[in-house]
Amino acid sequence: MVAKPNPFQTALKQLEIAADLLKMDPDIYQMLKEPKRIVTVAVPVRMDTGEVRTYMGYRVQHNDARGPYKGGIRYHPEVSLDEVKALAFWMTWKCGVVDVPFGGAKGGVVCNPKGMSRGEKERLTRRYTAMISPIIGPYIDIPAPDVYTDAQTMAWIMDTYSQLVGRPEPAVVTGKPVSLGGSEGRTEATGLGAAICAREAVKTLGLELKDVTVAIQGFGNVGSHAALALAEMGCKIVALSDSRGGVFSRKGINPLAALKYKEETGSVVGLPGCEEITNEELLELECDILLPAALENVITSSNAGKIKARIVVEGANGPTTPEADTILYDNKVFVVPDILANAGGVTVSYFEWVQNLNRDHWSLAEVKRKLEEKMTSAFKTVYETSVKHNIDMRAAALMVGVGRVAEAIKMLGIWP
Ligand code: NAD
Repeated sequence: MVAKPNPFQTALKQLEIAADLLKMDPDIYQMLKEPKRIVTVAVPVRMDTGEVRTYMGYRVQHNDARGPYKGGIRYHPEVSLDEVKALAFWMTWKCGVVDVPFGGAKGGVVCNPKGMSRGEKERLTRRYTAMISPIIGPYIDIPAPDVYTDAQTMAWIMDTYSQLVGRPEPAVVTGKPVSLGGSEGRTEATGLGAAICAREAVKTLGLELKDVTVAIQGFGNVGSHAALALAEMGCKIVALSDSRGGVFSRKGINPLAALKYKEETGSVVGLPGCEEITNEELLELECDILLPAALENVITSSNAGKIKARIVVEGANGPTTPEADTILYDNKVFVVPDILANAGGVTVSYFEWVQNLNRDHWSLAEVKRKLEEKMTSAFKTVYETSVKHNIDMRAAALMVGVGRVAEAIKMLGIWP
């Protein structure tokens, strides 16, 4: 078995590719190779049993040349500083690709939220927030949800921060519940944005949505909303999975029924009318679109050659290793890279922040219309860049995203 690469090494390799293509000033390249700030915290939490457990947490701020830092917070047992650094890099480029005025950051806590009670998760979230509070804020760094964190987690962060500064500060996080100033459409934004990218890729290849079959790895926030949107566009969802395993049906899976089943049982495994498959088998299925929406490094040099999908839409961050990228490109698989495919989340996060700062609330229709505009325009820019320079979509997205950041750094200069 091939060792999985360190995601930070992948992010550095991608930066190198972009720097070469852009003929980037070497000083700016050096500045972009490390995050501007890394904060590590040891978070003590009183568990329900009365004992105190200490969890390691991070907040990595990569670059803020284009605006306040922005990026999600991940709770997972395998969180590492290098993973958080890579995710912070990708946020910087992503905000550049969709042209929203944010920089890139990411947070993570090494924990297993599935084994914690609601009270334990709340105490962990509040203490972690208190410990990173000096470096976050509506004009400094604005967290959001990521793997195993959600609107409730954001509500606790907002409340803790607001208590500390002595006034309500809804704009300190995005992805909040709508009742607390969250945007309509934020929950489904990343999945919907990925579905819009999939639709544009289908058009680009001259296929018809009604003939297209889709396999989705990871049926969480991103995967489930992508499935619902793609089914609504007329595609047939043939496979779904989560951390416990996957299900397959050539006749098609109704994502609403799958969602209901997962809510009741905790997994898609066992969904009536489907065959069981493994997560590995799902990636290699005969289908038109493969949409990884779980974790990084799932498409590697050992399975990339076996992927039969014509289009890969990266709902997850960093699902494809650089070696796998080359194999997919050689095999003419059309890859919509993560920094474009999953940028719908940060785009609606930006809309949420604007609404909060303006004390405004937009309708779902308005949010969806603006998201559609941003995603199709970003897809077009990236696709045209790939054609113009005869490069793959990832290199093109990096050229667009990294290029905008490098330009901002150049204009800002260094002070003092
Ligand atoms: P989530 O916690 O809602 O869902 C994650 C899903 O992946 C769950 O269904 C889980 O069971 C499944 N999973 C976990 N480990 C797995 C494994 N080993 N094999 C297969 N499935 C596994 O998280 P999410 O917010 O949907 O995030 C998924 C991915 O999308 C992550 O890479 C995240 O960084 C990225 N992303 C999320 C957002 C967002 O707005 N939520 C935005 C951009 C990118």
